[in-house]
Amino acid sequence: MDLRNFSGVKERREFLEKKLAVKLENIADIHIDYEKNIHCENLIGATILPLGVAGPLYGHYIPLATTEGALVASVNRGCKAIELSGGAEIAVETVGTTRGPVFETAGIKESLKFKRWLDDNFDGLKKKAEKTSSHLKLKKLGMRIAGRYVYVRFYYNTGDAMGMNMVTIATDTLDRFIESETGIRCLSVSGNFCIDKKPSWLNFISGRGRRVWAEAVLKKNVIEPVLKTTAKKIYQVWLTKCLIGSAMSGALGFNSHYANIVAAFFAATGQDLAHVVEGSQGITVAEQLDNDDLYFSVYMPSVMLGTVGGGTKLTVKQEAIKITKAKNALELAEVLGGAVLAGELSLLASLSEGSLAKAHTKLGR
Ligand code: NAP
Repeated sequence: MDLRNFSGVKERREFLEKKLAVKLENIADIHIDYEKNIHCENLIGATILPLGVAGPLYGHYIPLATTEGALVASVNRGCKAIELSGGAEIAVETVGTTRGPVFETAGIKESLKFKRWLDDNFDGLKKKAEKTSSHLKLKKLGMRIAGRYVYVRFYYNTGDAMGMNMVTIATDTLDRFIESETGIRCLSVSGNFCIDKKPSWLNFISGRGRRVWAEAVLKKNVIEPVLKTTAKKIYQVWLTKCLIGSAMSGALGFNSHYANIVAAFFAATGQDLAHVVEGSQGITVAEQLDNDDLYFSVYMPSVMLGTVGGGTKLTVKQEAIKITKAKNALELAEVLGGAVLAGELSLLASLSEGSLAKAHTKLGR
């Protein structure tokens, strides 16, 4: 029997239980609102993650779904240190959600002519793309040529949606239009020039989704009692780990654990978990000031998230978004920026005074 042929979730699960001689009663027990438009094929139930909350940070609580002991406590401690030091400055900029198709020409001469055509016809392309959705705007395009192959990176503003379905539909429409106008064939709506869900320097340098910055100056009289360390020690671990160690490893990010906070926040708020790849990239900066305070910042060049569409439609995810008090995607990105700042600070503090193993033994075993 093909799993797709079952009309109901219960029937499909029971078939699997019988076939595999296993009991799936816990999977069956988890409540999921089947009336919602759930985008998962061959459904047999739902799975869970424990949900914790950190904060507040400038009045926002941070929902984090994780099974890693010490993670929520760490972000919570970072929030406390930042709040006691006077708070954080956070900024978000929309770069745009990208789709990057690849086209095939006869050779370099035609590739360059095609590039000029795309530049000259931007307004027409924009009009065409924006007919596919009432919230999508084509912002700009970038191009690269490798002989007969032309890679085009379309950047779209997708409102409060993360936007990958929206930009795929819009780009597919553009590809058909470009083919009919130029006779040049699109080989794939994604030529990995998007670049979606893969670690990449293009996303790091040009950005994707949203760029997020957060910074704080941690006071000496807060660092010592709350973080149990000093600005000097944090600076030294940051330098040797986030900079030299990352360079030594060829890492695509100069940070200590953005992925931890991004993954837990994305799981809680219904984001596409594969975009943790983009969210894991970024640079942390730590600097010991003359008065032994600590300047601390994070920069995330490609954050892909939304408050509508995709997994955010699930009621539990909407509730988690409500915990953050974010009214739109920009505000949700701000809350994430603050959470990442707090998580980075706390982990580097912990490493600098040697308590990481102790904390995980206590909270994670
Ligand atoms: P979506 O649920 O497909 O589309 C979002 C919808 O929300 C749009 O149709 C838009 O309507 C509507 N909308 C209502 N209010 C809006 C607002 N304020 N701002 C923006 N849109 C608003 O979601 P998506 O974000 O485009 O795609 C997310 C999904 O794509 C996730 O499930 C993810 O896993 C998946 N994904 C797909 C691909 C792919 O290749 N297709 C790749 C990676 C991930 P209008 O269109 O009428 O404006």
